[in-house]
Amino acid sequence: MDKEAILALLEETREFPPSAEFTAQANLNGPEMVRRGNEDPDGFWADIANELQWFHKWNRVLEWNPPDAKWFVGGKINLSVNCVDRHLAGARRNKAAIIWEGEPGEERVLTYWDLHREVNKFANVMKALGIGKGDRVTLYMPMIPELPIAMLACARIGAPHSVVFGGFSAEALRERINDCAAKLLITADGGYRRGNIVPLKKACDEAMTGCPTIEKMVVVRRVGEAAGITMHAGRDLWWHDLMKDADDYCEPEPMDSEDPLYILYTSGSTGKPKGILHTSAGYLVGVYATTKYIFDIKEQDVFWCTADIGWVTGHSYVVYGPLATGASVLMYEGAPDAPGRDRFWEIIEKYGVTVFYTAPTAIRSFMRWGDEHPAKHDLSSLRLLGTVGEPINPEAWIWYHHHIGGGRCPIVDTWWQTETGMILITPLPGLVATKPGSATLPFPSIEADVVDETGKSVPPGGGGYLIIRKPWPAMLRTIYGDHNRYVSTYWMRFPGVYFTGDGAKRDKDGYFWLLGRVDDVMNVAGHRVSTMEVESALVEHPAVAEAAVIGRSDEIKGQAIAAFVILRDDYPGGRPSADELKRYVTQKIGAICRPDDVLIAADLPKTRSGKIMRRLLRDIAEKRVMGDTTTLADPAVVAALKEKYGENEG
Ligand code: ATP
Ligand code: MG
Repeated sequence: MDKEAILALLEETREFPPSAEFTAQANLNGPEMVRRGNEDPDGFWADIANELQWFHKWNRVLEWNPPDAKWFVGGKINLSVNCVDRHLAGARRNKAAIIWEGEPGEERVLTYWDLHREVNKFANVMKALGIGKGDRVTLYMPMIPELPIAMLACARIGAPHSVVFGGFSAEALRERINDCAAKLLITADGGYRRGNIVPLKKACDEAMTGCPTIEKMVVVRRVGEAAGITMHAGRDLWWHDLMKDADDYCEPEPMDSEDPLYILYTSGSTGKPKGILHTSAGYLVGVYATTKYIFDIKEQDVFWCTADIGWVTGHSYVVYGPLATGASVLMYEGAPDAPGRDRFWEIIEKYGVTVFYTAPTAIRSFMRWGDEHPAKHDLSSLRLLGTVGEPINPEAWIWYHHHIGGGRCPIVDTWWQTETGMILITPLPGLVATKPGSATLPFPSIEADVVDETGKSVPPGGGGYLIIRKPWPAMLRTIYGDHNRYVSTYWMRFPGVYFTGDGAKRDKDGYFWLLGRVDDVMNVAGHRVSTMEVESALVEHPAVAEAAVIGRSDEIKGQAIAAFVILRDDYPGGRPSADELKRYVTQKIGAICRPDDVLIAADLPKTRSGKIMRRLLRDIAEKRVMGDTTTLADPAVVAALKEKYGENEG
């Protein structure tokens, strides 16, 4: 399908109802459950919780003393039991739990029974190292099976884990270890990324110069000799040595529903990362339910969420959610363009992936790389697609729908946050007609609203702040070590309701359209313009692959619009000028949205999870000293942009 056809489609058909075939087989395909969720949320969640395995059931579903929620009060549960042991009784015992593909091409399959053995052994290893309930364990690992194994082992013994994404620097790792005073660090000698070795163990050694609480470091041998690492006697231990003689059964710790499960630091798109704390029962019930109903998981599905486990998406939808449903989870270690730009499509074809979940930033890269890469592969096993992480521009949605989904797969555009733990706004794929660019409707029982400055609900058609009025099971309980920051960040802007920090508008059907961060809404000469709308207009230009828009302060207008644009590699019509792109935006969405600056760039500053760091673009455009850059993927990008922005001036 060419660009013109896509554009035509964008203007004509904006609604995609689920097909009758999909609806007929969907896990949630009638309005009763939605009604029950909204009318009797406690009953709704209790029904779902009853599908899981408990040592002791709860006395009360919810205790709500804003802003402190307790779910399944009085219950006792263990997440590793629910993600692993629960599946051993029946036919799932020898089913693939984790299907792993290394970047260099190795394969490894762990059945649920295998996973049980590994998790239990590693739980015993940690106990022997003196780790017990409540001790924090930091994981700094590549995307290898030992990472979910270690997480589940932590859950088994009640030691909260803190996974730090393997792309972070030694300094970022040190900061996160010290913030939660972790006792144990688990890493690997290295990992593979685009054919290079990521020197994880070396970064750990560097971090260790300032981490007094770490007693031991466990190292997985992933790379071998080529990693060139040194083991420090008395501190560093090889994973395989410890596992050799470990017993393969470890009694699971009966955890209180509200006992901590993990700490995870946010991506830092808007400021210094926050240590989000999630607890046990509510989190599990939330991710289990959303996986089952949003990804429509069936016994025979192969589910692939491409997020790194270092992000919340990986925690909830690579590990806990899909394993709790007993799905087969695909896990891939490396980059989408290594060795070739068709790597993802090759993997989908090879393993018959049925449900695929990725991010808009990745989809835009695929578009930029050209349609021929997915076209080379048989993607007919796919039946459902998802996206997460930022608003998806309609053009990317349509491309995803046609080139990956073959026009037949529903797309679930899922809105949620590290803080929410689970998806909160999303289509139910068998029930809700989708509109490209809209996350559609709240999950049953979730009371989302759009409000104005004063907290008053904005009627359909209008925009404002996205808030959630009632607690939900997988909600964060605090910011680790800083409950005041928890209260002030999320619960003070509008007293007693959860403030997401995102802007949204609702259309006449009540559908939610996410507009990006609240501080991404510009005020241009008295008009409120969303950065997202200008970005969407820019990427509709056939030569544009990606665009990031920010408001920079301007003496006359209040804010001026600055756009950073990346062009497509394969566009035959030549490179448009900055002026042409400005005119294009004017024509698409009006003169008020015309960018004042357009900078054609080679790359954009992104977090390691692929989100554009608009606050750094603002720093560049306003020629300020850069804010916190520890979560930036590639510092060279910022330096290049700074230089180019200077050149472009005047
Ligand atoms: P920080 O809070 O440290 O600035 P972050 O908000 O980027 O970092 P995450 O919790 O990983 O960290 O991201 C959540 C945010 O991602 C949401 O608040 C929202 O802005 C954006 N987001 C996620 N999914 C969607 C979606 N489907 N549509 C629109 N925006 C989304
Ligand atoms: Mg955030």
